[in-house]
Amino acid sequence: MSTAEEREDEMKIDPARASTLSSNLMNVISRMRSVIPQATQEGGPRLVAVSKLKPASDILCLHSLPAELAKNHPPQIHFGENYVQELLHKAEILPKSIRWHFIGGLQSNKCKTLAEQIENLWCVESVDTEKKANELEKGRKALAEKLSKTAASSKLESRSSREKLRVYVQVNTSGEESKSGCAPGEETLSLCKHILTSCTHLQLQGLMTIGAIARSKEAGEGQENEDFITLEKVRDEVSEALKADGLSNSKLELSMGMSNDYESALRCGSDEVRVGTTIFGERPPKRSEAEKS
Ligand SMILES: *Cc1c(COP(=O)(O)O)cnc(C)c1O
Repeated sequence: MSTAEEREDEMKIDPARASTLSSNLMNVISRMRSVIPQATQEGGPRLVAVSKLKPASDILCLHSLPAELAKNHPPQIHFGENYVQELLHKAEILPKSIRWHFIGGLQSNKCKTLAEQIENLWCVESVDTEKKANELEKGRKALAEKLSKTAASSKLESRSSREKLRVYVQVNTSGEESKSGCAPGEETLSLCKHILTSCTHLQLQGLMTIGAIARSKEAGEGQENEDFITLEKVRDEVSEALKADGLSNSKLELSMGMSNDYESALRCGSDEVRVGTTIFGERPPKRSEAEKS
């Protein structure tokens, strides 16, 4: 736990940095809009700013813009994080109006904490086993119970006690062994069914892929990334199968596209791109868990 002074330091905004981040964000938004005009607006594809390994003050810059920058673009609401400890800390000190996306490799034993402790966790994008879905379900259920108690005593209904935790099933579209995610096909469908039938506190939002780096480089040269085409196909097949079983009629979203390939992803029907480096700059190397304490 940090002291008030340490927190103040972590949240201090440097005007030059704020201006850089703001113009980087503006560039990404306008490039998105040159592919899909309604991007980042109501009903259009959303932008998740991936802030992993970046300071809380960077997030604050984009979320609570200084007045002179706020006229250029709206405050950024969706932020993505990869590490549970880092997200727990940031969620504690940053405004509750932020919608957090957990997009990193997920360990089953951290799922309950994640879903229970972070009220404004908007979605978890890296669900690839029933066990992880079940642990997230347990955490959200515990949170809902806690909130309904406090809501009853204060006669206020909290937004989160009504809202389910959105989840995306991560699909390994490239088939690389190093990538996590469900195999396209039966494994993906079966996890989607499990979430819809057994996890009442979760809402199946869609499918997510990371894709292969080499392919995203090709995509930069005018060819669309094969992983994006695959994910769209898997989504259509899964949606059909769910519909046939009477499980769901709502359209599943596609979360795909990062700094190198978000325009290609949008052309392939992405509903959400996750952009880090292009907004925040290169990340420092990730420290090991052991070095952190
Ligand atoms: C880090 C990360 C991103 C952002 O990557 P950039 O190349 O920095 O834009 C997007 N999605 C996932 C799952 C990530 O881990």
